[in-house]
Amino acid sequence: MNIPKSTNCVHLNIDSYHTMMNFAKENPRKEIIGVFFGKVCENGDITVLESYSFRVGRHTEVHFNDSDYEKILPIIKDCATRDLEWLGWFHSHPFKRGDHIYMSNTDISYQYPAQIQNPYWTAIVCNPHQIKDQSTSRGMRAFRLYFNPDELKLTTKVIELPLIIE
Ligand SMILES: [Zn+2]
Repeated sequence: MNIPKSTNCVHLNIDSYHTMMNFAKENPRKEIIGVFFGKVCENGDITVLESYSFRVGRHTEVHFNDSDYEKILPIIKDCATRDLEWLGWFHSHPFKRGDHIYMSNTDISYQYPAQIQNPYWTAIVCNPHQIKDQSTSRGMRAFRLYFNPDELKLTTKVIELPLIIE
């Protein structure tokens, strides 16, 4: 099994950036969620090439439901014809004042089983109120959970991956 390194980057194409951030901006007080597809590079980086908005949740909580999975299936098939793999999910933490771009315990509980299935599975968290925050990639960060290579075990420790918008 290939194991990505914590130094691997997430490359996000500009169309995907706009899909995610525009959806978040349209819902500045509610969490939004969606999925993204792309390719794993030979060096272990991933490139996100297509993103799909899914749903608007409540103020502090959003998650996938059964109808989302029905909606995702044809997209997975369509992306597969273009050699694009489902590589992760994005959602917003739409809060003003301060830094809100992190993985909550709920987020970790969604990320964990998915990353066991696919070690490249990635979470992107965005905040439309932090676009100008220099410590972010235009209001976004990318995360994965740390895989302990000695114990061959996925942990619940969150690592931030460099997120490059291009
Ligand atoms: Zn969250």
